[in-house]
Amino acid sequence: MIIDVRNLYKDYYSGELVVPVLKDVTFSVEEGEYLAIMGPSGSGKSTLMNILGLLDQPTAGEYLLAGEYTSGLSDKQLAAMRNEKIGFVFQRFHLLPSDTALQNVMLPLTYAGIPAKQRKQLAIEALEKVGLADRLDFKPNQLSGGQQQRVAIARAIVTNPTILFADEPTGSLDSENGEQIMELFQMLNEEGVTIVMITHEREIACRAKRLLYIHDGRISQTEGGAADE
Ligand code: ADP
Ligand code: MG
Repeated sequence: MIIDVRNLYKDYYSGELVVPVLKDVTFSVEEGEYLAIMGPSGSGKSTLMNILGLLDQPTAGEYLLAGEYTSGLSDKQLAAMRNEKIGFVFQRFHLLPSDTALQNVMLPLTYAGIPAKQRKQLAIEALEKVGLADRLDFKPNQLSGGQQQRVAIARAIVTNPTILFADEPTGSLDSENGEQIMELFQMLNEEGVTIVMITHEREIACRAKRLLYIHDGRISQTEGGAADE
């Protein structure tokens, strides 16, 4: 089991007011799975994803990543775990605007302490994989939205993560570019990368092999995705 979430709660505090967002969320993901979590806007998808990606901590409950309890880890330990095991793809790409595609993709390798020469080679390979070998020196504003998201995917996979989290990865793209991103995810999953993707779009969710629903902060385990259709 790569992800094991048990009775997870997340409350936000707004002044005196407690805003419960995740409510008793329990589910697990096996290594190699391709899971989509689908729910409407405001249902708690990004909140859940940020916790799974170790960018935020739950209010209560347990989250084990690759068999390790994540509560009680220091920021440094969390960052190390994130760097070693996790790739993250966001709706709005989150690329550094003044860096080239190559520099953006090399960045996580710098954090991982990989030597400079190897960094460049690995980053080029990751950009080749997403079909951008001819755009290495382009900055984000010289690339289309779809190309920027492919750079972001190259950045997410360059460290060879066990698991890829994607928060509405096609949410800022037209359907043709969205389709290219879905094909990339499928290829990565076939290569063995575990994928957890959240979306509010059914056509996107159906590309995964398993589908969970989130509604008002609660998960329901139900039908499968593309595999059952
Ligand atoms: P989704 O990604 O499904 O649209 P979010 O996880 O972003 O949903 O948000 C779920 C709920 O939590 C929303 O009602 C939102 O207003 C609330 N929320 C999100 N972040 C915060 C925050 N930092 N402080 C207070 N409330 C928040
Ligand atoms: Mg969201």
